[in-house]
Parts: sequence; C-alpha cells; structure tokens
Amino acid sequence: MIESTPRVASSAEVVEELRRRSSFVMVSHVKPDGDTLGAGLALGIALKRLGKSVAYFQQDNVPRNLRFLPEADLVSRELPADLPADTLYVFCDMSDWRRAGEHLPPVERENMLDIDHHLGNSLFGKLNFVLESECSTGTVVMHLLRELGAPIDERIATCILATIMTDTGGFMHSNTTPEALDLAAELMRKGADKEEITTEIFLRKRVAATRLLGRIIDAMRFEHGGRYCYSFVDDAMLAQTAADGEDTEDVVNTLLGQEGVDVAALFKAIEGEIRVSLRSNGALNVAAAAQRLGGGGHFRAAGLTFDGALSDAFSAVEAALIAEGL
Ligand code: AMP
Ligand code: MN
Ligand code: MN
Repeated sequence: MIESTPRVASSAEVVEELRRRSSFVMVSHVKPDGDTLGAGLALGIALKRLGKSVAYFQQDNVPRNLRFLPEADLVSRELPADLPADTLYVFCDMSDWRRAGEHLPPVERENMLDIDHHLGNSLFGKLNFVLESECSTGTVVMHLLRELGAPIDERIATCILATIMTDTGGFMHSNTTPEALDLAAELMRKGADKEEITTEIFLRKRVAATRLLGRIIDAMRFEHGGRYCYSFVDDAMLAQTAADGEDTEDVVNTLLGQEGVDVAALFKAIEGEIRVSLRSNGALNVAAAAQRLGGGGHFRAAGLTFDGALSDAFSAVEAALIAEGL
C-alpha cells in the first residue's frame, strides 16, 4: 500500500522490500555521472550476490570515463523482455523519476524505489530513502548495504568510492565530511581502486576537451561586479574542437574558481537542447534558483534544462539568481 503523504523510509523498511522482491532494474539519470551510475551498480552487484536478478537501465551511453566501473558494460537503454510484473525499479540520484529520461517505459509507483540525496526530492517512490545530508547517493546506498549485511567486495567498494569522489569533486567540495573520509578509507581497505577512479574521472583529459575548455574560457563573461561568471558551449564549438557533450561536464567548476566569483553558470546549447549547470561557493542557493526554472540539485551544484533561445536562457538564469540573492 502506498501512503497518501510520502515520507522518508527507514533503511529497515527498504531492506525488507529488497528482500521481498526477486527482480530489479537499477535506473540512472540522463547524462549520467559517477554517483547515479556507481550507486546503482553497487546495489545491483550486492543484490545479485543474494541471488536476485538485476538489470541496469540508463538512457544515455555510459560516459567514457566511467566505463571502468564494474558491470558498467551491462548498462543498457533496453530493458530485458521478460521482466516479472513485480520488478522493483530503483531510481538512484534523482529528485524526480522524470530525470531517468523519456526512454524508460511507464513504471507504477508501487514498483518505484527512490534512493537519493538531493534537496527537495519529490518522494515519488513507493519507498523513498532520501538522506539530504549524505555527500552522494552511493553513501546512501551504503546504509542499505550495511542493513542488508552485504559483504563489501572490491567491486562494490570501487563503485561506492567513485560516487563519493564524484560528488565531493575528489574531496574538494564542502560536502566532504569526516564521515565521507572515514568511509573512503574503509572502502580503500576493502580494495576500492582509488588510483583508477582518480585517473579516469579526474586526471586524464582528452586533447579535444582541453581545446574546448580554452574556447569556453575565451567566452567567459562577468556580471554583478565580477561575482557572477558565465559562459556557453554550442554545437559549433564542439565541431571546431572535435569535442562532444561529455567533454563539458567539469568545465563549470573552472568558471566558479575564478577570483571573486561566487556563482557560475555554463550554458550548453547542444543538439537542440539548452542544459545549464550552476555552481555556487555557498554565497547563494543555486538549487533554489534552478527550481524556479524547473530544474533542481543541491545548494552549491544544480542544473536545469531551458526551453527557448540561448539569449533568453542567459537572462532567465540571471533573473533566477538575482531572485535568490545574487
Ligand atoms: P550538473 O551541472 O549537470 O552536474 O548537475 C548538478 C546538479 O544539478 C546535479 O545534482 C543534478 O542532479 C542536478 N540537475 C542537473 N540538471 C537538472 C535538471 N534538469 N533537473 C533537476 N536537477 C538537475
Ligand atoms: Mn548525479
Ligand atoms: Mn549525487
């Protein structure tokens, strides 16, 4: 039965549900990152070890720098044909099921489990295990693995460490708590491949990506006395540098890093869509600004998709930031 007023479930309730079901689909959000993917893979691997059947759904391809994750090669945008009716769809790292994309067939609420750490999660599942104070969805999953008594092997450890390192920006963001560092240490002791995570997710850059970064930096603009920095990338810039959308993921942090900047935005006008990445150093809540335009995220990292012209996106985002105190 689904309660009329959704609430956050306890780990015991979620584990009871996991034990009751035998078939699972782990669902990642569009434009996947190491958190949505790593969290789903970690839980999927643990469930398989309990004899459950697990598929991994993700609308977009696994980004090049995440293909090293265990079982990443099993991720698909096609669901198995013969899924039982009581398959549980586990949505990881999204405040609403719509972030899974349009390709996922309709799923009844009864069969949705929502595991997340975003502010303002819409509690869309039958059960919602949402811990806003956690640094990553992977560390939220870790609570479930503990409650399950699941052994943490090196594959699971690598997946969870990848979620922590992704969402803390390699332990640089303010969500890097002592608890996150303790857990990272524990995961390394259990065999997590920290070297590979560092290399794949943070260090190795494609030359095309670096050339694109140069173009985006060239296009930087500063407003509000230099407190707001924004730039954009479009299809032409990608074509000229032989880069693609994956090469834009990290760039907004460079904008935020400029001296005097409190808030940064990168507008990505790619393949007929404008996606905006917002970052703040804590001076204002970019999740609230993103929510004004139908997006979401965290206090310091948020995003949205804008329907319209790029110049209108510039002014709409600036207005939303001003409304939140820019
Ligand atoms: P990004 O800038 O794409 O790395 O996203 C930063 C944060 O904002 C992540 O936590 C995302 O889940 C969230 N986010 C990005 N785009 C959207 C969107 N269109 N709707 C809701 N949340 C979003
Ligand atoms: Mn994410
Ligand atoms: Mn996350």
